[in-house]
Amino acid sequence: MSRYKKLEEEMKACRKCHLRDTCLNVVPGEGNEKAEIMFIGEGPGEKEDKLGRPFVGAAGKFLDEMIGLIEMKREDVFIANIVKCRPPGNRDPLPEEAEACWPWLLEQIKTIKPKLIVTLGRHAMERFLPNQKISQMHGMALRREITGIGKQVFYALYHPAAALYQGSLRETLKTDFKKIPKVLKAIEKEKNIKKEVQMDADRFSEENKQEALF
Ligand code: SF4
Repeated sequence: MSRYKKLEEEMKACRKCHLRDTCLNVVPGEGNEKAEIMFIGEGPGEKEDKLGRPFVGAAGKFLDEMIGLIEMKREDVFIANIVKCRPPGNRDPLPEEAEACWPWLLEQIKTIKPKLIVTLGRHAMERFLPNQKISQMHGMALRREITGIGKQVFYALYHPAAALYQGSLRETLKTDFKKIPKVLKAIEKEKNIKKEVQMDADRFSEENKQEALF
C-alpha cells in the first residue's frame, strides 16, 4: 500500500469533528498521488458526499473543462478540500472544523509534494493566504512559507461554482486557468536557478530568484 493510500484509509476512519456525524462519506480527495498541481476547494457538497469523491457535481464538471483547457486530465492532478466531510446544508465549514481537518490536508500536501497549490474560492485561499481579497489575489502566484510544509507556491482562483453562476467570473476563471502552465514553468525555472545558485552563489541574488518566478 502506498504512503498516500495509507493516509487515505486513516482519513476515511476519522471522527475528529462532528461533521462526521452528519455526512455520509469522508471525501479525502482523488487524483495523481505524484501530481504537480493540487487543487484545493472548501468542502464536499451533496453529490460529493453521496459518492465519496471531490468535485463531481456541476462545479466539478466545469473544473474538468478548465483542466482540459491546460491540456490535462483530472487524473493528472490532485483534487482535495479543506474539510473532508460535508458541512450540513452546504454551509461554510466552521473555523474549528477547518482546524480539526487541517493536519490531514498538511499530510496530503507533504505526501503528494505538488509544485503548485491552486486554491478554489475564497475560503480555500484564506487558509493559505490569510487576510487577502480574492478579487485582488486571483490569477497571482505567490510563494510563502507554511509551517509543516515549508516554502510553497500558491495560485488563487475563483471557485468554479461561483463562476458557473456569474458569467463575468466564468471568463476570468478561464483566463486565470490558462496561466497555470506559465506559472509551472516559472517554478521550474526557479528550481534551475536554485541549482545554479548552489554552484555559483555570487551570480544570482535572492532578489533575482524572486524575479525569475514572478
Ligand atoms: S471533517 Fe476532517 S476532521 Fe472532521 S471528521 Fe471529517 S475528516 Fe475528520
